[in-house]
Amino acid sequence: ACILFIVILFMKDKSRFEKAEAEKLRKIDEAKTKLFTNVSHEFRTPLTVINGMAEQMEKHPEKWMETGPEKIKTQSQILLRLVNQMLHIAKIEADEMPLNLIQGDIRKFVYYLSESFQSLAENMGIELIVSRQKEAIFTDYDPDKLMHIISNLLSNALKFTPAGGCVYVDVDNAIEEKKEVVKITVRDTGRGIPTESVEKIFERFYQVPDKNDQTPGTGLGLALTFELIKLMKGDIRVNSEKGKGTEFTVLLPVNV
Ligand code: ATP
Ligand code: MG
Repeated sequence: ACILFIVILFMKDKSRFEKAEAEKLRKIDEAKTKLFTNVSHEFRTPLTVINGMAEQMEKHPEKWMETGPEKIKTQSQILLRLVNQMLHIAKIEADEMPLNLIQGDIRKFVYYLSESFQSLAENMGIELIVSRQKEAIFTDYDPDKLMHIISNLLSNALKFTPAGGCVYVDVDNAIEEKKEVVKITVRDTGRGIPTESVEKIFERFYQVPDKNDQTPGTGLGLALTFELIKLMKGDIRVNSEKGKGTEFTVLLPVNV
């Protein structure tokens, strides 16, 4: 009876394990299908526009020759950006994205990156305020990846802030869990993110639903930002209130 009892227990455990494995596989499969659907969907709009434009140019070359090429260019750029972002994410996931570290003043580099958004902000009627502190923060960092992170956060802040608003950038050092970190903050006074959406914004293709939203984008920027920060052994936090604004804080380890 004892042996029989042990055998039954063992069988039960095995079947529970198999069920969990099957469930895991089902979830992966579901995620893949969702990704596939999203990708197809994102490709369809620009391709339809390109196709339509080419047809128009064929039928009425005199009418469309002027505006057609520009529209085709814009849509192909959207497609190219999408493909590049996806390849970037895939590369990080496959562990094929090495960190190319240089040593330098990370604060100065972030200021320099932020300043390059100054004319865009001005054109959009938004005040971009980069707080200047003189003291350098020396550490190892990957300039190319940091550029992607800052560009993603800043372009979001500008995109989701109406004219007349402000975007602030700040770089500071701090101690987190007894370790020295550099804290990069990008804050805006824009439309904010509803509480129920905050935890989803780092998911691929997620965009906060908005009835009359014409904002361009595919919902990949923050997913890529998240992966890049993970690669740098850092962390990202978000603090937002609908209608009031959003604050992203990136924490990166300081190692010099
Ligand atoms: P992409 O970056 O691929 O061009 P996107 O900007 O829509 O497209 P993400 O950068 O991943 O995508 O952001 C996901 C979503 O999070 C956005 O669509 C928007 O709804 C919300 N979001 C991100 N940043 C902000 C912000 N600063 N203020 C308000 N909402 C934001
Ligand atoms: Mg974005």
